[in-house]
Amino acid sequence: MIENRIFNFSAGPAVLPEDVLLQVRDNLLNYKNCGLGMMEMSHRGKEFTEIIQDTEATLRKLLSISDDYAVIFTTGGATNQFSMVAMNLLGGATGNYINTGVWSKKAIAEAKKFGEVHVAASSEGDSFSSIPTNIDLSNNAAYLHFTSNNTIFGTQFSAEPQAGSTPLICDASSDFLHKPLDVSKYGLIYAGAQKNLGPSGVTLVVIRKDLLERIPENLPIMMDYRTYVDGESLYNTPPTLPIYVVGEVLKWIDAQGGLVEMEKRNRNKAAVLYQAIDAGDFYRGTAQKGSRSVMNVTFRLASENLESLFLEKAKAAGFSGLKGHRSVGGIRASVYNAFPSQGVDALVEFMKEFESSNG
Ligand SMILES: *Cc1c(COP(=O)(O)O)cnc(C)c1O
Repeated sequence: MIENRIFNFSAGPAVLPEDVLLQVRDNLLNYKNCGLGMMEMSHRGKEFTEIIQDTEATLRKLLSISDDYAVIFTTGGATNQFSMVAMNLLGGATGNYINTGVWSKKAIAEAKKFGEVHVAASSEGDSFSSIPTNIDLSNNAAYLHFTSNNTIFGTQFSAEPQAGSTPLICDASSDFLHKPLDVSKYGLIYAGAQKNLGPSGVTLVVIRKDLLERIPENLPIMMDYRTYVDGESLYNTPPTLPIYVVGEVLKWIDAQGGLVEMEKRNRNKAAVLYQAIDAGDFYRGTAQKGSRSVMNVTFRLASENLESLFLEKAKAAGFSGLKGHRSVGGIRASVYNAFPSQGVDALVEFMKEFESSNG
């Protein structure tokens, strides 16, 4: 047990499983008793080779990823993937993009530097409170890109959009591994680790190998997916500590019962929170009901003053990270895989008390 731990609702970097933190602490000082701390070992040594291979193997097991796909570890966050996807796979053609908020827009802005963008659907008209259902694909596009979970607006796709005959590309940074996923529907999936997978500093990319043939020559070496696939993510020094921690988180997910169990827990946590929000009109969910995220639960109170008071009292009561993204305000409770259900129950209790003293 870690002492004085509070409930951390941060959107990212976010809560990690306590068991993982304790395990990491010990190995940080002396990795499996080899006499070296985890951060002090060569990325080409036996220990780290095992770590990176195990991490990939556990991911492949959790998602049943076939040999048609490569798994790579990159840096620069999901933000760098906005550029890399377009540099590698757009080839001056048109990319279909679904615009569901801040992160989608950033991906679109990068793609425009390397080709044309066709916005196949957008929820900007309703302030990104929903997931669009009518998707108008441009013919002959290179791919369809979407953001599976909109961390800031609290909306989430409940199923993959139809990409026609083109590869489906997904920014899954804030919901990767929150439930089982059929990787074979995708051309490429990327996710920064610091929401649902581990610490910041590493980004996981799962890419269908045939797409590598589309990559133009002469890309900067670290922007070319082939560098990572051919070099098994070891062309240069990778972020060894983040990869190790991700590996431990993946093993933790597996030990808990895998993605089926994660989905069950996540659905329960989100249901308890949305029920509390919907119980009266003191709290108002910002995402439309059919589009609500099970990862980031966003809501508002009657005024910004009341929201400030809510955040202040919540902090005093031992809850952290509840402030909505600076671009939208309001309250956001991020309840990723590692967030404990006791924290959700405690927040709901707090919300009831806050309402009765301020309603
Ligand atoms: C956080 C986030 C990003 C940005 O991630 P960085 O690691 O900061 O580049 C991109 N997309 C989504 C969906 C996110 O939640």
